[in-house]
Amino acid sequence: KCAIEPQAIVSDACASFGTLEHLNEEIKPSLLAVTKKTDFFTYYRLNLFGGECPFWNDQNSMCGNIACAVTTLDNEGDIPPIWRSDELSKIEGPRAKHPGRKEQEERGTRRPLQGNLGDDVGESCVVEYDDECDDRDYCVPEDESSKAKGDYVSLLDNPEKFTGYSGEGAHMVWNAIYRENCFSKSHEEGPAGNSTPAQLFQAANDLRNVMQAGSDPEDYMLDESCLEKRVFYRVISGMHASISTHICYDYLDQKTGLWGPNAACYQERLGNHPERVSNVYFNYALVLRAIAKLEPYLKDYTFCSGDVDQDRDTKQKVMELAYKAAHTPPIFDESLMFQDPASGIELKRDFRQRFRNVTRLMDCVGCDKCRLWGKLQTAGYGTALKVLFEFDETEDFYLKRTELVALINTLSRISNSISALTHFRGPTTAAAISG
Ligand code: FAD
Repeated sequence: KCAIEPQAIVSDACASFGTLEHLNEEIKPSLLAVTKKTDFFTYYRLNLFGGECPFWNDQNSMCGNIACAVTTLDNEGDIPPIWRSDELSKIEGPRAKHPGRKEQEERGTRRPLQGNLGDDVGESCVVEYDDECDDRDYCVPEDESSKAKGDYVSLLDNPEKFTGYSGEGAHMVWNAIYRENCFSKSHEEGPAGNSTPAQLFQAANDLRNVMQAGSDPEDYMLDESCLEKRVFYRVISGMHASISTHICYDYLDQKTGLWGPNAACYQERLGNHPERVSNVYFNYALVLRAIAKLEPYLKDYTFCSGDVDQDRDTKQKVMELAYKAAHTPPIFDESLMFQDPASGIELKRDFRQRFRNVTRLMDCVGCDKCRLWGKLQTAGYGTALKVLFEFDETEDFYLKRTELVALINTLSRISNSISALTHFRGPTTAAAISG
């Protein structure tokens, strides 16, 4: 168990709680500028309603509360022109990519490449076929293609908070997510993989039985595990804890009808479980490190909203954030992972596949708003893992718009959680940290 003291080190990261809280205070203004004040990072396109839960029939666990609803942008006029469907269908063509520095230098230009799309349309402004999967992806890609159906949502209009979604449906999803963490042979067949529908149904029933027997998913993690497996667990537990933090911080008191922080909710879900809180901080270190690593890549990234001034402003804000991230003291060292010559490659493949399964499970979430943020955050963590373990400046590497939007909004979610956790822990600790 880790004590949440300012000077205590967040295990598996290289920083203390206090350091990460300081960093959060420094980075937050830039993060807010990017996530609240740019079109590029406030609109997210995803397949919110089209995906069926591949693992079990979720019809009985749908949340009917008004708080579970998501307002989608049905009016094309509300979407920046470059992302509207008529524009998307116009620019069918070669898959867009963000040319690496080397490629641009070879072509004698560091500006976006001009394709056959018209002189004023940089090739990197083409909306990518986001449903295409790259071997290096840690998540099932969200749809931002001209072919796939998807919905645009404004993240600002649909904040993550208490929705009332709970009970068996929600527990089944969490249990299935933690089950992906069971790397050991006896658990190798997760509910996903290549199972038949009958096996999937059986897996769902097993999960229900585990749940009814009162087992705690954290039991799965009790055995001593290697760094990679611990990191996998910490990412999902940290995401879960961050979601719980938002629920408790933006809680609806059903008696008074008022929204606000709920200390009892915090104590029960987080305060009594310091390791969950520690996992939130761990995730902050991991995602921030991924953004730091992307800094050189982002220098060449073109932000397309169709408005040149806005794109310039977006780039400036993102670069400020990336610069701050890249100039932090060391907080997470990804080079320690997957190094075992005998098992490293296989372990990484397994890790990636299991994380993809976690992202697939988001279609089983029976509450639209929870599904929106669940999809965004699993995509954000998936992108962070891809950047940490697959990004190589010398190779052809690119991120889809949805990946970048998810990555930065995920950091913003964790950043919010750290501020909320500081609030819940009270002024004494907060003062000790800021001192
Ligand atoms: P749950 O949070 O459902 O947890 C189930 C069990 O998991 C616990 O009993 C405990 O044993 C274990 N556990 C809990 N936290 C951790 C952790 N951090 N690490 C390891 N183990 C843990 N509800 C909302 O109101 N708003 C949302 O935006 C929202 N988003 C969601 C997104 C997803 C992807 C999912 C699956 C659910 C979401 N929910 C949301 C529901 C919410 O997470 C809870 O399931 C619900 O509030 C019921 O909470 P609970 O106290 O029963 O425990």
